[in-house]
Amino acid sequence: MPLHAFSSTPVEHCELCHSTHFTVVASKDRDGQPLRSVICENCGLVFSDPRPDSTQIDDFYREGYRMAYKQAWQPRLKHTYRAGKVAQDRMRHLMALLVPGSSVLDFGSGGGELVFILRELGHEARGIEPNIGYAEYSRDVLGITVQIGGFAEARVEPRSLDLVTLFHVAEHLEHPVEAFKQAAQWLRVGGKLYIEVPNVESRCIWPSSRFHQAHLYNFNAATLAQAGRLAGLGVVTTFTSEDGGNVTAIFEKPETPIDTAPAPLADNADRIARILRDHTAFAHAFTAHPYTRPIQKLRRQWDERQAIAHFSDGKTLLQHLAREIKHPQRHDHHDGPKGALATA
Ligand SMILES: [Zn+2]
Repeated sequence: MPLHAFSSTPVEHCELCHSTHFTVVASKDRDGQPLRSVICENCGLVFSDPRPDSTQIDDFYREGYRMAYKQAWQPRLKHTYRAGKVAQDRMRHLMALLVPGSSVLDFGSGGGELVFILRELGHEARGIEPNIGYAEYSRDVLGITVQIGGFAEARVEPRSLDLVTLFHVAEHLEHPVEAFKQAAQWLRVGGKLYIEVPNVESRCIWPSSRFHQAHLYNFNAATLAQAGRLAGLGVVTTFTSEDGGNVTAIFEKPETPIDTAPAPLADNADRIARILRDHTAFAHAFTAHPYTRPIQKLRRQWDERQAIAHFSDGKTLLQHLAREIKHPQRHDHHDGPKGALATA
């Protein structure tokens, strides 16, 4: 059953600032289904209200999510390739935070692509993934360590990790601040929590595509950083992706939890509300995005077909992608299918 059929629990107060003053910013999701999205007038956090209750959310992620969005229980080769290319990009950002043998946990590890590449590059990496089909695929086909479950089931030794990553996970969580606190307990002092989410300020998508049933929260850099601060973490940096579609925050575990008052986010709600208001379909039609994105997608699909033709299984494919990171000079001029052809 789709998630919107369950959305019935009203939100009492803002997760970040406990304000009860919300303004409606949208009434439909990207598929035209009813989804009420509100902005906290005090801090600018955007979230679904009402939302499904937690057991409905858990069931959805265990079984329904990948089926609903990928029509597959386990990733096909093209999914592994696509996710593997994304994992390569992520690796390039993570590299600065890693030393040889770093211990890394990827929470929401999906098909296990990032964990596999991290291991190929000499790190102690493992995953946690709520979806049974994807977790089993990463264990059985890729041979990596993945625990099935969510934050409630996670069994991780306190202070045992150098890096915890959450890529496109935090927006799905019912209580992101609590989850960040839990992740912080797994980190050694000085360890990093790396979080990437869709950017609510994104202008690279059609305005009607912004809201998603499965995204309970929609962050910008300020609200994402605030969530980490409330979890007692230090904010190292925040940045957005080149197209503005994603926002990342890197947090550091301090010696003792930072007990600072949350940063005042006085203008943040106005800023986001203005961006959402000004980013109309009409305005979007006068940017390059609606025209370049379909072309990029076609090109990507063509590249994918070419590249996966050279691999018979996901493991060999990911080993190749890991080699491209290890030896970037060999692949500088052969990005994409030709590179795969030359070295597969
Ligand atoms: Zn708030």
